[in-house]
This record gives sequence, structure tokens and C-alpha cells, in this order.
Amino acid sequence: MLSEFIENINRRLGFRGIFRFDEPMARHTTFKVGGPADLWIRPGGEEFPEYAALLLKEARREKIPVFILGGGANVVIADRGIRGIVLDTGGFGGAGKGGVSPEGAFLTFNAGTSADEAAETAAAAGLSGLEFLAGMPGSVGGALWMNARCYERSVSDGLVEAEYLDGDTGRREKLPARQEDFGYKMSPFQGKNQLILGARFALRNRPEREIRAEMEDHRRDREAKGHYRFPCAGSVFKNNRLFGAPTGQIIDKLGLRGFALGDAQVAPWHGNIIINRGRAGAGDIRNLAELLKARVREELALELESEILFAGDW
Ligand SMILES: Cc1cc2nc3c(=O)[nH]c(=O)nc-3n(C[C@H](O)[C@H](O)[C@H](O)COP(=O)(O)OP(=O)(O)OC[C@H]3O[C@@H](n4cnc5c(N)ncnc54)[C@H](O)[C@@H]3O)c2cc1C
Repeated sequence: MLSEFIENINRRLGFRGIFRFDEPMARHTTFKVGGPADLWIRPGGEEFPEYAALLLKEARREKIPVFILGGGANVVIADRGIRGIVLDTGGFGGAGKGGVSPEGAFLTFNAGTSADEAAETAAAAGLSGLEFLAGMPGSVGGALWMNARCYERSVSDGLVEAEYLDGDTGRREKLPARQEDFGYKMSPFQGKNQLILGARFALRNRPEREIRAEMEDHRRDREAKGHYRFPCAGSVFKNNRLFGAPTGQIIDKLGLRGFALGDAQVAPWHGNIIINRGRAGAGDIRNLAELLKARVREELALELESEILFAGDW
């Protein structure tokens, strides 16, 4: 039983944080959809790595699936919910720790720090390199896993090193950033049983005023593009240079901007964003994404690749 399982772990480690059974995932995703997780747990405090290591080890032994959740800004969890444990990193945040190495200034962030807070922290320290993250929903861990990209910059660009927990061995490991391990929206963590604990970024000095001005530009641009108007998860599909146009334009050309299935709708102002107009289910969003993919395949013979991730019990 999951309750016994978690109580046993919590007794061993003096748990700080929150957990709930049958927790609706709609509360934890930016699309605001998703049925219940059997167990949703958000451990808090600096003990997070030790706690997560024990949880992953014991869950593996008991064959209980564990899904790692950051800010829920890139996932659609099924209406039927998700079986096993959702390990939410949101309690392992906090402002970054700074320092100076022979290569220059750096900041290290715990995985649960929000991307926007990371940008704010760097700005307050007069350090440049994370401006692009201002206003982007999600966590540092999720952004690194996705190798999130915007304003001509990817998370891997300034990354020096990541720390992660190997879910198979239970060991804490360091991954020095090698650019060849990353690609467009691709990181070496994808497809692996690894929990990102933190990331260290190399930054350079820049007047705070300039940093903040750039961050405000990005936030305003996102506002203007309607990013925050309705629940969504940003771009639905990746862009592909070989297609000759951004995915949004490709979907526009087929006249699908504004097309809706129930309350899931292709944003009337952007072809590559699906919005939840209020009562969309995860199924509506998935069906709409599938429909867009199929139409682009049939009419243009192009194969769109999903950027948003579908998880849970479909
Ligand atoms: C309004 C809006 C605008 C957006 N704009 C952009 C944009 O400009 N560019 C862009 O790239 N994305 C964008 N996104 C998508 C999203 O913000 C990013 O993909 C973000 O990096 C996801 O982070 P997250 O913490 O929410 O990850 P989640 O959605 O919680 O998780 C994503 C994946 O990462 C894994 N994961 C999360 N944390 C960890 C961890 N610590 N260790 C191991 N695995 C982990 C999860 O298991 C999951 O597979 C946007 C989303 C929204 C809602």
C-alpha cells in the first residue's frame, strides 16, 4: 500500500514537506488539466536529495513508478490521472548560491527554483546570462531537462555543470556540461532514470539596469504574445528548420488557428499554442494535438514533433 510505503520512508528520514493521495494533477500543471496522482509528494528543505534518493530506491524495489514533476509547464497528464508517485521538486528551490571560479562568476540553483526566480537572482547580483528565462514558466530542473529555449538562447548555453541523482544506483553524480550532449530541446537527461538536483551557470558581469531592461522586454513580449492569457504549456510542437517556416505559421496556413475541440483550442493568435478555454480535459488537448499533426502530415507531408509531454494513464 502506498500509504504504508510513504509512512515508512517518512519515519526513517523525518519528512518535511507535503504529500496527498489522489491529488488532482490539474492543480500542478499550467494547462490546469490532469486527473489524480495516486500519491503526490513535495518534499521540502535541504534534505531533498537524501529524501529523494531513498524514495527512488525504495520505489524501484517495490516496482512503484515515479514521475518527476517540476513546474508542470510542459506536461499534459491524463484525465484518468497517473499511477504511482509524482515527486514534485517545487519544495527544493531557493535563490541560487554564487561564487567565482577561475573561469569567472557562477550561480548554482536547486532544481525546484523557478526559472523566473533564477533570472531575478542573477539580475540582483549584476550577473548576465539568464535574462532569457524571465517570465518563462517552470523550474530550473525542468528547463534543463527540456533544454528550454527562447530569445535565441538555450539553457545549455551557459551551463557549466549539473548535479543529478541516478535513480538506478541512488548515487549523486555531476555532469560537466559538454555542448555536444545537448541539442535543440534535447538534453542528456531525457529517457534516463535521473533526477536533476541542480544546475550551475557561468555568468558575466553586466549592469543590473541593463539586465532588468532585457528581462522586462522578454516579459512584455510574452504578454503581447498572449502566453499568460489562458492555461497552456507554451509551444505544442518543436520548430524544425527543414520545414522552412516556424510550426505556428505552418498550422496557420492550413487555416487551423482558432480551431477547437471542446474547450481545447488552437490559440486564435498563435498556431503553435493550444489553450484551455476553461473546461478542456487532457483528452481534448491530446486529440487536438493529434489532429494538428495528422492534418500537417496529410496536407504537407511534414511530421511535426511534439514538444509538450503526455504522461499518465491514457
Ligand atoms: C506560457 C508558457 C510559455 C512557455 N514558453 C517556453 C519557451 O519560450 N521556451 C521553452 O523552451 N519552453 C517554454 N514553455 C514550456 C515550459 O515552460 C518549459 O518546457 C519548462 O522548461 C518546463 O519546466 P517545468 O519545470 O515546468 O517542467 P515539467 O513540465 O514539470 O516537466 C517537463 C519534463 O521534465 C522532467 N523534469 C522536470 N524536473 C525534473 C528534474 N528535476 N529532474 C529530472 N526530470 C525533471 C519531467 O519529468 C518532464 O518529463 C512555456 C510554457 C508556458 C506555460
